[in-house]
Amino acid sequence: MEVTIALAGNPNSGKTTLFNELTGARQHVGNYPGVTVEKKQGRYRRNGSNLIIVDLPGTYSLTAYSMEEIVARNFLVSEKPSAVINIIDASNLERNLYLTIQFLEMGVPVCLALNMIDVARHRGIDIDAGALSECLGIPAVPTVARNGKGKAELIQAVVQMVQSKNSSTTIRISYGEDIDRTLDKMEYIVRKNHFLTDQYLPRWVALKFIENDEQIIALGRQHNAQTATLLEKMVHQLAVHIDKTLDSFPEAIIADYRYGYIKSILKEGIVRHYGDRNRLFISDKIDKIVINRFAGPLIMLAVLFGLYHFTFTYSEAPVRWLEQSFGLLGDLAGTYLPQGLLKSLILAGILDGLGGVLGFIPLIMFMFFGISLLEDSGYLARVAFMLDRIFRVFGLHGSSVMPFIVSGGIAGGCAVPGVMATRTLKSPRERLATLLTVPFMNCGAKLPVFALLIAAFFIHYKATMMFSITLISWTGALMVAKLLRITVIKGAATPFVMELPPYRMPTFKGLAIHTWERTWQYIRKAGTIILGVSIILWALMTFPTLPASRIQAFESQRQTLRSAAETKVTAQLATNKQAASLSEAAMILSRQLLKVDNQEAEAMLKHSIAGRLGTAMETFSRWAGFDWRTNIALIGGFAAKEVIVSTLGTAYSLGEVDPEQIGSLAQTLANSAYWSPLSAFSLIIFVMFYSPCFVATVCIVRETGAIKWGAFAMIFNTVLAFTLAVAVFQVGRLIGF
Ligand code: GDP
Ligand code: MG
Repeated sequence: MEVTIALAGNPNSGKTTLFNELTGARQHVGNYPGVTVEKKQGRYRRNGSNLIIVDLPGTYSLTAYSMEEIVARNFLVSEKPSAVINIIDASNLERNLYLTIQFLEMGVPVCLALNMIDVARHRGIDIDAGALSECLGIPAVPTVARNGKGKAELIQAVVQMVQSKNSSTTIRISYGEDIDRTLDKMEYIVRKNHFLTDQYLPRWVALKFIENDEQIIALGRQHNAQTATLLEKMVHQLAVHIDKTLDSFPEAIIADYRYGYIKSILKEGIVRHYGDRNRLFISDKIDKIVINRFAGPLIMLAVLFGLYHFTFTYSEAPVRWLEQSFGLLGDLAGTYLPQGLLKSLILAGILDGLGGVLGFIPLIMFMFFGISLLEDSGYLARVAFMLDRIFRVFGLHGSSVMPFIVSGGIAGGCAVPGVMATRTLKSPRERLATLLTVPFMNCGAKLPVFALLIAAFFIHYKATMMFSITLISWTGALMVAKLLRITVIKGAATPFVMELPPYRMPTFKGLAIHTWERTWQYIRKAGTIILGVSIILWALMTFPTLPASRIQAFESQRQTLRSAAETKVTAQLATNKQAASLSEAAMILSRQLLKVDNQEAEAMLKHSIAGRLGTAMETFSRWAGFDWRTNIALIGGFAAKEVIVSTLGTAYSLGEVDPEQIGSLAQTLANSAYWSPLSAFSLIIFVMFYSPCFVATVCIVRETGAIKWGAFAMIFNTVLAFTLAVAVFQVGRLIGF
């Protein structure tokens, strides 16, 4: 006899390895009709059995979310293979059985291959295949596809299953009272109307309607529009009811119950952990509190607050030392370099620019150390797990949490890897929504801007400010995600279950490596992109230079002051005044001269390309409290956000506002007449939300495959940021800040 056997399983469960092991060289590779999914077929001929084996595409589920899932499902329905070998990664039983359950619900005859049993053993997991087989009512054979172990037994079990006629086992999972009630009614209607029942089980059809399965719904409408409409109406009522009572949607509830079913099976002594058991046990105990519905969020907020407190408190001294060293370097260069453009380039372009960025290395290092600690210990996975509930409300996904954290959700990430991390999201809509909102997180480049402004204006509320900034950026990102999901990226959410790895004690070496990797990334960026942009901006802020006549005017102003002072001193000498008033006169003169120097520097900056641009923008940037120097810095920020600090540094060192206040940039800003805590806060809000930096934008275009989304991110974010900043500034002024 000749029978067809399909190989199915999650990606990386060892399907291809087993396929090769079974069929050897007798393979045929083609495509499934009409799609680019590869179809591999081969033969197994031994001991009188003659099997055709088909390697189905790897899938996690049998919904209609991806091409692979649809192809696998259609094959099972249209080709009706005699049996399915469901290969599961035994070291990851819970997740892999999710697919198995769906085969059983579909009513296809399944034989389990408990593959990678060697890996499972290695991890201290012992699986009772007999008990599992009994629980599910299907054969289960342990295998090691890589060396062919268990292959013969597997084939034997499959052949036996095919030969015994009552081979298909169907399971009926309870999905809770609400869904069950509707499901039963729908099953009855489907059965009565012979609605798609020549190909599918009635209950399965009903279930797919509830799961919002686009393919089956379309098929149903074609087949019998009236029944389809009736079913869809019932599903709609159910969805409304579930939304009201459980604040969720049917697909999510169904996924929950499926996992619940698997958990209940696995509890029957099928899986035993040895060796590491204690660790898992302790992990579960800790999680009872840490991810508790009430205590969990409070603990999470406390941990974040602690992280910020730790970072700012301990990095204070090193940041000061570094700033002082850069100041010293600047003094040296100022003293020994000849007057001219080169001096200006080195002082204002390179030292002030890079110094502003590199000065924050200690802070960044402490922050990264803290985050590495959270990540390596396993706590970060808990944060993602807890935020999953919140994320669903906003039309995002549990898997969106990681991209957000990578982008700087806690502080100090980068949107570039964040955008790329969205690849793990299955649903294209949720992926797009995540990808467009991760740039709102506080990446490592915005951090120095915030740190600078906090140091200048909120020195007594450092941790509180950082904490609020984080909350604001998350709130903003989630609101925008929701807005996108109800307007331009409409569509249903994907059910999702998160895994919680056991807690582990981080090693110091591991922490040091992670901290260094991230810090080095920051330094390297400062040394390349930031340096380049700093120099370009310096040029924009220097050229065109003032016309000779105006320089001459300042020079003659100085000359006038000097000769006036001279005349005065001569007059005093003539009247035999005390020596003390001589030094006083010298001081007055030097102060007057400095004032002229500064007026000249300011005139030069205003005359430059960047200065003109910044001044032109001041007309409307004033609504948000930004002066023309800030505008210059913000333009630089389009290239890279680090540049904001370095440009402010350059802008304020080119034209020191008050000669009395030559000190750190934070001091300069704090003493500047243009600045107030309110305008600083408005700037924080603007920097948080405005256009992603150049590299991140390129990344968005690449990942979405559409220039329009890159343009959207730049324009939409900037408009949003400006609106928010203006609102903050104007409301703040109204209520008297
Ligand atoms: P597929 O995605 O399901 O086709 O998975 P592959 O057949 O490509 O296997 C994924 C990886 O798992 C490969 O590196 C295999 O060598 C490895 N692998 C497959 N089966 C086993 C097994 O039983 N034990 C071990 N240790 N590795 C396996
Ligand atoms: Mg494969």
